Amino acid sequence: RIVVTGAAGHLGRLVVQGLLERVPADGIIAVVRSEEKGVGLEALGVRIAVADYNVPETFEGLFAAGDKVLLISSSEMGRDRVAQHKVVVDAARTSGVALLAYTSAAGTHETPLAEAHRGTEKVLVESGLPYVLLRNNWYSEIFVDGLDRVVEHGVLVRAAGEGRIASATRADYAAGAVAVLTGTGHENRAYELSGDRAWSFAEFAAELGGQTGREIVYTPVEVEAYVDLLTGAGMPALYAEILAGAEASFAKGELAGANGDLARLIGRPTTPIADTIAAALRRDE
Ligand code: NDP
Repeated sequence: RIVVTGAAGHLGRLVVQGLLERVPADGIIAVVRSEEKGVGLEALGVRIAVADYNVPETFEGLFAAGDKVLLISSSEMGRDRVAQHKVVVDAARTSGVALLAYTSAAGTHETPLAEAHRGTEKVLVESGLPYVLLRNNWYSEIFVDGLDRVVEHGVLVRAAGEGRIASATRADYAAGAVAVLTGTGHENRAYELSGDRAWSFAEFAAELGGQTGREIVYTPVEVEAYVDLLTGAGMPALYAEILAGAEASFAKGELAGANGDLARLIGRPTTPIADTIAAALRRDE
């Protein structure tokens, strides 16, 4: 059996869809937080289990010996995510799963956002379970959120300086997870997964300008100014600080590494940022 947590999320759904192309539906278990969240997945023929990282009992008996498990990291930023993930690791160890793959962050990424991933990696490695660390770079989709406003104003304001980012799409990372879950020989490895080519916001603005026929100017600002901008637009301070911390990390080049691991795992090139921009523009039309 292959078990996927966070299965109703963006990445989880793509993983389940990818698995369905490789293994029979009744060998896939989608873990969701509520029955309602599982409705769409159930329609695909996979089995549904309901469990919550905050309620350890819900994971009791969920895994079976020999399962391969994908732990998709929690999206609950205000919570102790290491403790949440430990609930899954503990349950997996008790059951004797064959493999626990975890969606982590790039090894070079040093922000509070990445701390939860480093803490979880430690818990997982020390658990003695066969593990795989899927250290995902940024999702390209994150950068095209709100693209219509950027096009409207002709200005792309970020706090990443000249930093480069080797992002890939969720579909690329999902395909990487599927390759690991359905393949062999991945035990106890850490993969630094990224897009094939790192890009800068100046290049992003030029690409967006080229595709829209408008002039788009990248305007780098200081991190503090970026926080003010986000909170001024109504974003809670906690999230603004997290996003600004990521910008500082981009500026330092912490997300610039592109080693080709993801393309090798999935057997095809990763999706260029230009394609993600094009898809977003089509959607916004
Ligand atoms: P989503 O927010 O779409 O999905 C997160 C999933 O985690 C959801 O299905 C959610 O359940 C589930 N989840 C959250 N809290 C709990 C809980 N307490 N118990 C059980 N399940 C829970 O995120 P994505 O799919 O886009 O990304 C997956 C993960 O990757 C994120 O959770 C985050 O940790 C990380 N991430 C990485 C980024 C990157 O650029 N590399 C960017 C953003 C996030 P429910 O459907 O019920 O809400």
